[in-house]
Amino acid sequence: MSVGLFNRAVAAAMPFVPRSLVWRFSRRYIAGVGLEDAYRTVGELNALNCSATIDVLGEDSTDLEQVQSAVDLYLEAIRDIHAKSLQCGISIKLSELGLRFDVERCREAVRTLIASAADHGSFVRIDMEDSSVTSVTLDVYREMRREFDNVGIVIQSCLRRSEQDIAELMDEGPTDVRVCKGIYIEPEEIAFVEPDEIRSSFNSLLEQLCDGDARRVAIATHDPALVEHAETLIEKLDVKEDRYEFQMLLGVAGNLRRDLVARGHPLRVYVPFGDRWYAYSMRRLRENPNIAGHVVSNLLSRA
Ligand SMILES: Cc1cc2nc3c(=O)[nH]c(=O)nc-3n(C[C@H](O)[C@H](O)[C@H](O)COP(=O)(O)OP(=O)(O)OC[C@H]3O[C@@H](n4cnc5c(N)ncnc54)[C@H](O)[C@@H]3O)c2cc1C
Repeated sequence: MSVGLFNRAVAAAMPFVPRSLVWRFSRRYIAGVGLEDAYRTVGELNALNCSATIDVLGEDSTDLEQVQSAVDLYLEAIRDIHAKSLQCGISIKLSELGLRFDVERCREAVRTLIASAADHGSFVRIDMEDSSVTSVTLDVYREMRREFDNVGIVIQSCLRRSEQDIAELMDEGPTDVRVCKGIYIEPEEIAFVEPDEIRSSFNSLLEQLCDGDARRVAIATHDPALVEHAETLIEKLDVKEDRYEFQMLLGVAGNLRRDLVARGHPLRVYVPFGDRWYAYSMRRLRENPNIAGHVVSNLLSRA
């Protein structure tokens, strides 16, 4: 059986796997269910010379109550991060803040969070979701950066439009971008599907940002080939430390992370937490069955 088929089969079987077993896999990638879990993890990362960004798990809110509780949790986190002097920002998903049913409420929520983060010396990264919301997400970012300095966006190298998006963003104003491959499976008409095409796009977008005048670039990958290319580029273009950082997910590629920190690169870890961890894990699996391969190897290595 091919690896792809195997991963799809495992992903299809996942809903029948007991929650407790899914938690065994998920806990490596998720700080826990509450804010205190997130602070503890961030504190540990800070002690290892890594900054962090926390993400309240949840997406596709369906009513205003869910939006408000996400906003409240993030506001509490922003205050606590400041009070505890943690090196940590926040990452938000617009669909969690109501994008899919009330764009105005979503904008208001985003503005509230960025304003509070600005008051507390913190930073807000707007995560990028699937291609149905790319344009509106970029528009919200454009609107926010007109008012605030402490906001950044994400660009996915799998999307064919990304080069154009970056060119326009940089033409229009100060741009702070996290580049990643993109986790959502997208149709071939709008997306690169071959791993090498996605890698090559990642490398050229990074060059476009570093060589142009992007204010800051976050290099979000665990792919050793991309990390190596990025390190070479940083050296070649003499990109200063206040203009870039590497970013990795909690629980992934620990050795590579430690190597990068040891070589003196700024590195931030993405720390998801919250009681919606189960829905999050299942959704990720449905969207991208390749993650199922990681699930199985993780379960086996812990057995
Ligand atoms: C900080 C950060 C923020 C991100 N934000 C977004 C976003 O806003 N929108 C979006 O669409 N995507 C986001 N992603 C996900 C990203 O798009 C990729 O899907 C993910 O990083 C895997 O791609 P990779 O470059 O690491 O390469 P891959 O080739 O997928 O992975 C390289 C190696 O890393 C390991 N690995 C990678 N991912 C995992 C995992 N989940 N579990 C266990 N091992 C793993 C494996 O060993 C793999 O062989 C983010 C990723 C990071 C690191």
